[in-house]
Amino acid sequence: MTTSELSQLKPLPEDWDSALAVVAHPDDMEYGTAAAVARWTAQGKTVRYLLATRGEAGIDSMDPVTTATVRAAEQRAACQAVGVTDLEFLDHPDGTIHDVMRLRREIAAAIRRHRPDVVIGTSHREIFGPGIFNMADHRVVGLATLDAVRDAANRWVFTDLTGPDGAALPPWSGVKFTAVAGSGQPSHAVDVSDHLDAGVASLSAHRAYLEGLGPEAPDPAQMLRMFAGFAADRFGGIPCCAFEVIGLPFQMPGDSGDGEAATVDRTSDAVGRDQSQR
Ligand SMILES: [Zn+2]
Repeated sequence: MTTSELSQLKPLPEDWDSALAVVAHPDDMEYGTAAAVARWTAQGKTVRYLLATRGEAGIDSMDPVTTATVRAAEQRAACQAVGVTDLEFLDHPDGTIHDVMRLRREIAAAIRRHRPDVVIGTSHREIFGPGIFNMADHRVVGLATLDAVRDAANRWVFTDLTGPDGAALPPWSGVKFTAVAGSGQPSHAVDVSDHLDAGVASLSAHRAYLEGLGPEAPDPAQMLRMFAGFAADRFGGIPCCAFEVIGLPFQMPGDSGDGEAATVDRTSDAVGRDQSQR
């Protein structure tokens, strides 16, 4: 197998029914990932959004109190554009998310409550593109999300979590994998060629935010089509949304996948197969 073949992105598994997407801000899902969400909801899957903040520090010309209300409404419209009806805000401070234990606890609670098959996150890595430093909120929420998948599966962590009815929330170890969007190290991709328009509509729903960027504001259609083309040369030329998948067993080149010796965790901190272990 050549280096070129090894660098090809694999199709993201879609043999699941529900996902929980966890991001820091309104618009984080809309810079490309929402097109994949539109594909999944069109397939009949359920995708829920959990946002750490309302993005109140995101519009320079608008005060944070007003911005929080405006951006929450824009996020609801963005969700509607891709078939998402379940949206929840955790109300951490935009730009300065710091209470990591509270965040992990809240994400773990959402995982136990919704019992998703898949978790969608954004990159926790410091660099997510050539010379592009990932902002603090994204790093904090990305890492907390990976940790919370493991927390949710361990009955001895966050033992006092309760559901809306007051009953204890049992652990949930059914997350097959976490798909990390915006990673500089993608491994899988989703064909979004039939869902780009929905993705563009979802980003366009952030009208006040985009207007707040002034003349530098990107054209949603132009930018999202460009993003979908970035990874296409590693995915058979197909416009796609790329993900770093954490938690799937690694398949050795040429292996059918059923040989135990050739199947090992991709990373030492994989959160899929061993997520109930600490
Ligand atoms: Zn963001």
